[in-house]
Amino acid sequence: MENVFHSVRLDDEKCKGCTNCIKRCPTQAIRVRGKKAYIISDRCIDCGECIRVCPHNAKYAVSESFNELLKYSYRIALPAPSLYGQFNNLDNVDYVLNGLKKMGFDDVVEVSKGAEFISDATRKMIEAGVLKTPVISSACPAVLRLIRTRFPNLIGNILPLFTPLDFTAKLARERAMQETGLPSEKIGIFFITPCPAKRTEIKTPLCFEDQNIDGAIAIKDIYPVLVQTMDKLQPEELEPLNDSGIIGVGWASSGGEAAGLLKERYLAADGIENITKVLEELEDEKLNDLDFIELNCCTGGCVGGVLTVENPYVAKARIQRLRKFMPVSCNSLPKDFDLDELSWTKELLPSPAMKLADNVLKAMRLMTELKAIEASLPGLDCGICGAPSCHALADDIVRGYAERSDCVFSALRKASDGDEWLPAPFRERAAVHPFPEKGDGYAHDFAHTFLKHTDPKDENKEKGEPT
Ligand code: SF4
Ligand code: SF4
Repeated sequence: MENVFHSVRLDDEKCKGCTNCIKRCPTQAIRVRGKKAYIISDRCIDCGECIRVCPHNAKYAVSESFNELLKYSYRIALPAPSLYGQFNNLDNVDYVLNGLKKMGFDDVVEVSKGAEFISDATRKMIEAGVLKTPVISSACPAVLRLIRTRFPNLIGNILPLFTPLDFTAKLARERAMQETGLPSEKIGIFFITPCPAKRTEIKTPLCFEDQNIDGAIAIKDIYPVLVQTMDKLQPEELEPLNDSGIIGVGWASSGGEAAGLLKERYLAADGIENITKVLEELEDEKLNDLDFIELNCCTGGCVGGVLTVENPYVAKARIQRLRKFMPVSCNSLPKDFDLDELSWTKELLPSPAMKLADNVLKAMRLMTELKAIEASLPGLDCGICGAPSCHALADDIVRGYAERSDCVFSALRKASDGDEWLPAPFRERAAVHPFPEKGDGYAHDFAHTFLKHTDPKDENKEKGEPT
């Protein structure tokens, strides 16, 4: 098992074991046992889907507190472009950037600035034909983890470059060291994050040896203080800090990164189900005519991250409006820039999380066993066993984490004839009480049946007794 760090956690006390989360997890990382959810650590990609669906708020994301800032002499904030979509009637991002400085940061560098450099680099590399197409964006860390866990054959298609966040942090640290003369360890760089996956990437980078970022503060944590600080700012005290345009800020929502490449043959998908379908089609070589594929785990892109405060569609509309007041771009790479300087420093490896065994022969034997067990299960994917599907239960059984008897239907099957052991929707025979075929019969019959069973007068009528 890999040494895995996670920002998404479970609050045992709050978990009711309701199983709502198990089917939403894209890597089938959740099981429910003993009335509590359990996250299989090396499968979790920190996408935050389980936080979104848990009705009891038992899943949550950890991020840095403001006290972390006190460890450093010089503090830099790197706001995600999605932060701009959180404020109503914002027509100048300098209010946000100056607000952050007023809150105690010594410098603020927009991640949208780094995004414009990465858009430029990607454009140049696609034009030079040095990338395997379709190129998959590497900006969403949850997508990166999903690919290495479920679609390792697609690793070679991922854009092997710094993300906007990584590059912005590098620029910010270099500038701070130059301007202040402070050693690197006295400078603290904090990302204002819309999602837990970015924090996980900061703490355990997959494609880099070193990390320039010291922590991540959730947008939802900083928002209440920031909005109050912004309210007190007067136009004349605004320092011009904004240094990015339509292309950089566009990365906040789905389609922005792809549009910034100024190419036609691209696809942008968002939301966990949609991106999974795209990756399946890509694996089946159905999308080979595309140059670029942008994928964001969250609905709407980063504006839909679980650590934001605003509805993703509202935030996206605000950002579109804000972009009208901006230049196209403020940043591009010098002509002689060596693109190797933006390359990953570590190879992205497939995750071993789904492997049945390291030994190939053993893995094949376990796979045969798994298929046989799966074939013997009812195939309802009902989740009553605490696993998200019959396949996942069979997988748990061969790994020794579950038993056949965990499937309630296995016991019922033995004790019943035909398919009577199955729940009603899955039986072959016609329903005993069929629904009416057309018209408003459903409403009428339902009301009739309901009254018949609830009104004592009706019951007495049927018995022929006085009412
Ligand atoms: S959704 Fe999952 S984490 Fe939330 S209460 Fe139900 S089982 Fe527990
Ligand atoms: S964060 Fe995502 S991958 Fe991890 S357990 Fe929750 S839904 Fe599954």
